Amino acid sequence: MDRQLLEPSQMDGHLTYRFDSAARSVALLPARCKLGRHTLGHSQFRAVVHDGEAHISCLACATDGADHFWRLASTSPAPASAELSDERYDELALRRTQMALSQAGLHGA
Ligand SMILES: [Zn+2]
Repeated sequence: MDRQLLEPSQMDGHLTYRFDSAARSVALLPARCKLGRHTLGHSQFRAVVHDGEAHISCLACATDGADHFWRLASTSPAPASAELSDERYDELALRRTQMALSQAGLHGA
């Protein structure tokens, strides 16, 4: 289906938002890094939004030179704040993890 999700150079999806009780936008960031190795609440990460794209980079993976950042399309103005979301990006993270495992030849057995 979403073939482009499997292509590392493509966008991974869309940045999603929720609104808090004061109607301010809160960006929801993936709770796991792109490779599924780290929980971003525990590891350091950097989120940057520019040119309609949000990059959420896992600093631990970045030092490995791995494909370390999510690319999420962002169509709204910069949000007031951001928080990590466990559920929103589960499917993306799962896909990424499965792909990383199969690329590493750890599947089968
Ligand atoms: Zn990581």
